[in-house]
Amino acid sequence: MAIDQETADQIVDTVARWVDAEVAPNASAFELEDAYPDDMVAQMAEFGLFGATIPEQYGGLGLDVSTYARIIEELSRGFMSLAGVVNSHLIAANLITRFGTEEQRVQWLPQLATAERRGCFSLSEPDSGSDAAALRCKAQRDGDEWVINGTKMWVTNGERAGLVALLARAEEGITCFIVDKVPGKTSGGITVSKNIRKLGYRSLETVEMTYVDHRLPADRVLGGPEGVGKGFQWCLQALELGRVNVAARGVGVARAALDAALDYAAKRETFGKPIGQHQGIQFKLAEMATKVEAARLLTREAAAKVDRGERADMAAGMAKLFASETAAEVALDAMRIHGGNGFTTEYPVERYYRDAPLMIIGEGTSEIQKMVIGRALMRGDRP
Ligand SMILES: Cc1cc2nc3c(=O)[nH]c(=O)nc-3n(C[C@H](O)[C@H](O)[C@H](O)COP(=O)(O)OP(=O)(O)OC[C@H]3O[C@@H](n4cnc5c(N)ncnc54)[C@H](O)[C@@H]3O)c2cc1C
Repeated sequence: MAIDQETADQIVDTVARWVDAEVAPNASAFELEDAYPDDMVAQMAEFGLFGATIPEQYGGLGLDVSTYARIIEELSRGFMSLAGVVNSHLIAANLITRFGTEEQRVQWLPQLATAERRGCFSLSEPDSGSDAAALRCKAQRDGDEWVINGTKMWVTNGERAGLVALLARAEEGITCFIVDKVPGKTSGGITVSKNIRKLGYRSLETVEMTYVDHRLPADRVLGGPEGVGKGFQWCLQALELGRVNVAARGVGVARAALDAALDYAAKRETFGKPIGQHQGIQFKLAEMATKVEAARLLTREAAAKVDRGERADMAAGMAKLFASETAAEVALDAMRIHGGNGFTTEYPVERYYRDAPLMIIGEGTSEIQKMVIGRALMRGDRP
C-alpha cells in the first residue's frame, strides 16, 4: 500500500532531525573507535526503520522505496554505517516478502520488522564476489533436512544477526535458505571465523562465516520446495533494492561532504577573504553540488521505477554507479577544500573519504554496474 506524501515527508523529517541532533555530532567518535553504536541502532528500531519496507500486515512500516531511499540518504549524511545495518537486514526481509511462502512471511517478517531478530544477506564468498554464480557453499539433502558446508565472506551484520538469507549450491542449482542462528560467534555448526577490519564503514561487523554440517529443516528453503534452484535469480531481483539503497548512501555521504566544504569555505580565509570567495574554490563547489544533485535525481528515478513495478536494473545500476563515484569524488574535493585540516580526524571529511569507496564495491562494483547497464542497452532498453 502506498503511503501518502505527507506521512512520508514526516517520517523523513523525523529521521533528519534526529540525525542532526544525535547522529552527526557523535558519529566520528564511534567510527574512529570502531565501536558499535548500540543506542543509535536502538533508536532506529524505535523509529521502525528495521521494518521500513516490510509490509504493514507483517508489522512493518510498508514504506515505498522512494521514501526508504530518502531515509537512507539522511542516515548516511550522519553516519553511513547505520544505513548498512538496515540495508543487509532489509535485503533478507525483501527476499522473504517477495519470494517466501505465506508461512515463511508470517513466521519471520514480524520478528525482523521489530528488530527482535536482525537479518543479514550472505551471497559472497572468499573466491566469488562479482562472479557470484560461482559460489561453492554446498547444500545437500539428507532425508527431510539440508546440510550446509562452506565459507561465506563479507557478511554485514553477521555476528549480531538472528537470521541469514544464505545462498548455497544444491544439486538443482543455487538456492536461498532462511537460516536462523543465535546472535554471537557460534551457533549449531555456524562459526563467525573472522571479523574483518576495514578502511571505513566501521562500527558495524563485516564477518567471515563458516558452516560445518549445519542442519536445516526442509521448510527453510525460501519459497518452499518450489524454491530449490531459484535462489540466484531471486537474489538478483532483491539486489535492485540494495542498489537503490547504496546509491542513496552515496548521495548522503556526498551531501555531507559538500555541506562540510561549504561551511569551511565560508569560514577559512586566505589572501584576505574567505576561500569560498576565490573563483577556483567556487568552481569546485559548483561541480560538487551539480554532481550531488544529479546523483540524487538518478537515485529518486530508480526508486520511483521500483515503486511503479517497472524493470529497474538499468536505472538502479546507473544510480548506484553515478552516486557511488560521486561520493568518492566529492569526498576527496571536500578534503582538498579543508587543506591540512581535511587530513586530520578533527574534521569529519576524512571519514567521508574513507567511507565512500565502500559504495563503489558493495552490491556490485562499478564495473559490474556498467555490465548491467551495457547489457540493458544492447537488449534495447533506454533510460
Ligand atoms: C565492507 C563490505 C561489506 C560487504 N557486505 C556484504 C554482505 O553483507 N553480503 C554479501 O553477500 N556480500 C557483501 N560484500 C561483498 C561485495 O558485494 C563484494 O566485495 C563485491 O561484489 C566485489 O566482489 P569481490 O570483492 O570478490 O571482488 P572481485 O569480484 O574479485 O573483483 C575484483 C575487481 O575485478 C573487477 N571485475 C570483476 N569481474 C569483472 C569483469 N567481468 N569485467 C571487469 N571488471 C571485473 C571488479 O569490479 C573489481 O574491481 C561486502 C563487501 C565489503 C567490502
